[in-house]
This record gives sequence, structure tokens and C-alpha cells, in this order.
Amino acid sequence: MTGKGHRISTFAFVLGATGSPLAATFSFLGSTFPDSSEYVFFGKRRNRYHRRWTHWFIPWLVMACVCFERSGWIVPRLAALVDGTNAHYDVWSCAGFWLMGCVLHILEDAWCGTVPFLIPWKRSVGMHVFHMAKARGEMSRGEKNFVFCCAGISFVAFMFRTFTLRSFADLMLTLWRNI
Ligand SMILES: [Zn+2]
Repeated sequence: MTGKGHRISTFAFVLGATGSPLAATFSFLGSTFPDSSEYVFFGKRRNRYHRRWTHWFIPWLVMACVCFERSGWIVPRLAALVDGTNAHYDVWSCAGFWLMGCVLHILEDAWCGTVPFLIPWKRSVGMHVFHMAKARGEMSRGEKNFVFCCAGISFVAFMFRTFTLRSFADLMLTLWRNI
């Protein structure tokens, strides 16, 4: 998947799942790191190592869980970060969501190719739901559709977060009484 595809679908997914624009922003920032880290670690030889060690989900997931555990499993609050009281929980949470962006990157790559599962140097899991464009950095039609669907579903989920089961029950009761 292209960098643009990773950024849009990761931001949308985390926004839909948490309802927090701040958490979504940190995941957005981490969402291209597994690819860009290959330039840092391997430089010109990156093609040989592409989607191997850097695309192994286990270390990213473990680090993300450690950060979330430290944060007390909260979603970061901008007010707490600005205020500074007990802000260390929110800082850990931001780091956790940055790392979750890396985990989601790998999951997204598995939709259009293979990534390692248990052995980091063997690309073993994945499928071709869509194909990448031939030109580097360009989004293929399949990728655009995939990103569009992902963003759409997440947006609906985000809207529904305010519409809880409780408010649904209240609405039904009101309707019932007014018949
Ligand atoms: Zn990648």
C-alpha cells in the first residue's frame, strides 16, 4: 500500500474505533514508519529486506501494549496534556497509538501482499484483495476503493459512537409512549 493509503485508512480506523482525533493523529504519524524505517536500517539494500523484520507485527504490538498498560488503557486527552497534571498517562497513551499505527500498517499491507507471521524473515500471510499500481507512490483503483470503504465504515462508526444503546432504548420508549 502507498504511504497516502496507509495514512488515510489508519487515521480513519483509529478515529472510528476510539472516537478520539488525538489518538487518530498519533496513529497517523506512526502509520508509515515500518516502511520509512527500512531506509534507516538498510539504506540501499532495503529491497532485500522489504516487508520482513520491519513488518513483523509482534514487536510493534508488544511495545504498543506496554505503552497502553502504562497509560492505564486510556485514550489521550488534549486537556490533560496541556494542563500537565498526571499527563504521563496521556503521554504513554500517545506513544501507544503511534505504535498502533505501525501495527495497522502491517495489517493493511497484508491486504495487498504478504507479511511475516511468526517467523520475521519469512513473508507467509496475506492476500491480494487489491493490487498496487505499477508506478511507485501512485494509488491503484483497487487501493482507492479499499481506502474509501475503510474510511467510510470508520466514519459511520464514529457517528454511531454518540448513538449508544442507552439512547436507542430511550428513543424507543419515547416513541412507544407517543403512539
Ligand atoms: Zn509496508
